[in-house]
Amino acid sequence: MDDGPVLVAGAGPVGLATALALRARDIPVVLLEADSQDRVRPGSRALYVHHDSLKLLESLRDGVGKRLAEHGIIWNVRRTTYRGREVYARTYPPYDKKTGLPPFTSLRQADTERILLHACVQAGVTVQWDSRVTSVAPRATDVTVSTADGTSWTASHVVAADGARSVIRMEAGIGLQGSTSPGFHVVIDINGEEQCLERVFHYRHPAMAGRHVLTVPYTGGFQVDLQCKADDRPDIMASPEAVREWLPGVIGAVDEQRITWISVYKFRQLIADSFADETGRVLLVGEAAHLFPPFGARGMNSGFADADAAAAAIAYTRRELATSAISEFSKRRRTAAMSNSAAAGAALKHMRPSGSVARGRQLTAALLAPVVPRFGEWLERAPYGPVSTMVTGY
Ligand SMILES: Cc1cc2nc3c(=O)[nH]c(=O)nc-3n(C[C@H](O)[C@H](O)[C@H](O)COP(=O)(O)OP(=O)(O)OC[C@H]3O[C@@H](n4cnc5c(N)ncnc54)[C@H](O)[C@@H]3O)c2cc1C
Repeated sequence: MDDGPVLVAGAGPVGLATALALRARDIPVVLLEADSQDRVRPGSRALYVHHDSLKLLESLRDGVGKRLAEHGIIWNVRRTTYRGREVYARTYPPYDKKTGLPPFTSLRQADTERILLHACVQAGVTVQWDSRVTSVAPRATDVTVSTADGTSWTASHVVAADGARSVIRMEAGIGLQGSTSPGFHVVIDINGEEQCLERVFHYRHPAMAGRHVLTVPYTGGFQVDLQCKADDRPDIMASPEAVREWLPGVIGAVDEQRITWISVYKFRQLIADSFADETGRVLLVGEAAHLFPPFGARGMNSGFADADAAAAAIAYTRRELATSAISEFSKRRRTAAMSNSAAAGAALKHMRPSGSVARGRQLTAALLAPVVPRFGEWLERAPYGPVSTMVTGY
């Protein structure tokens, strides 16, 4: 039985959740983060935390799921428009936070990370800031990790939560397969004066020459996600000047001071060939293992499930309870990733229909929605891909 610390690389949401999941199993943890403690994470990122994730995090440490839910908001209006005409609208009664963990919550990823980091520190995780992992040497019995400051760390396992450009994945020689779709989205975070509680998907927004636009509220503001056309250029659509020009057509006049981030992302569907190396000493979780487009909120949420599964596999292995636990982890989480990727692919096909038949189907649904509500429901749901229990893997 090994009782030394396990290394986790990366203090993003998934690395923090992994550290919590290991501590929940009484395993000591050293978390190596490349950035400094006072960093500001750039760009707009995850907002939507699924109920399963809240439940999981609450089970890892009392109060964490509840704190996320308390800090987050729940929008109670869902609307869909097609060329400016409403095709779906539903208002739910406001959620009573006293009834337990909500069906979801929406807050900035930076706030999710702040709450998770606080929980990690309370749980006794040792966080090493300014510790960029540069190399990894796994052996049959342990693994040595080196950081840019010249320190070497030896542990029973290292969990790579070092994100999309994972050095550890590359060092372990694990490939990444999949595709990046052409085209890009512009995402803008806008801090609000009043809390917006309406999530709206606009098909072919009339003010945006037929581009799709999604607006999603979060605590203290909302995010605008513009799907650009194939021949759009990011330097033009996402420049502050361009945004200043097109944004009021979508959300009305806005004080520029309220715009906190403008970023660009592409639809990427990439999955690692394996979620563990051959020695079973290196495990991959979160974006180090898979990249999904944001629609459907699968990236961070499925990363939380990876985190718990990785911690469970390490705990079993260290107690010599199951020799195959790490390879089982790899197989199971890779299967979940493939399912999430397929669901994201279905969402992409819907949002970028390739032929006139698919486009015609959406137009027909929009025309019929006022008299046949299920067409409106289809238009409302399809941009997020099929609902699948594999988002988190439970
Ligand atoms: C616009 C947008 C919206 C999104 N919305 C959602 C959503 O609503 N719900 C959802 O589930 N997902 C969403 N996602 C995806 C989500 O943001 C990611 O899945 C999530 O950030 C992945 O977390 P991670 O911890 O795996 O990686 P990251 O967040 O990238 O964290 C990696 C960490 O590792 C550190 N690091 C990097 N290299 C090293 C190294 N060599 N050594 C040590 N540390 C290192 C980095 O500094 C960072 O702290 C969205 C993404 C985008 C772009």
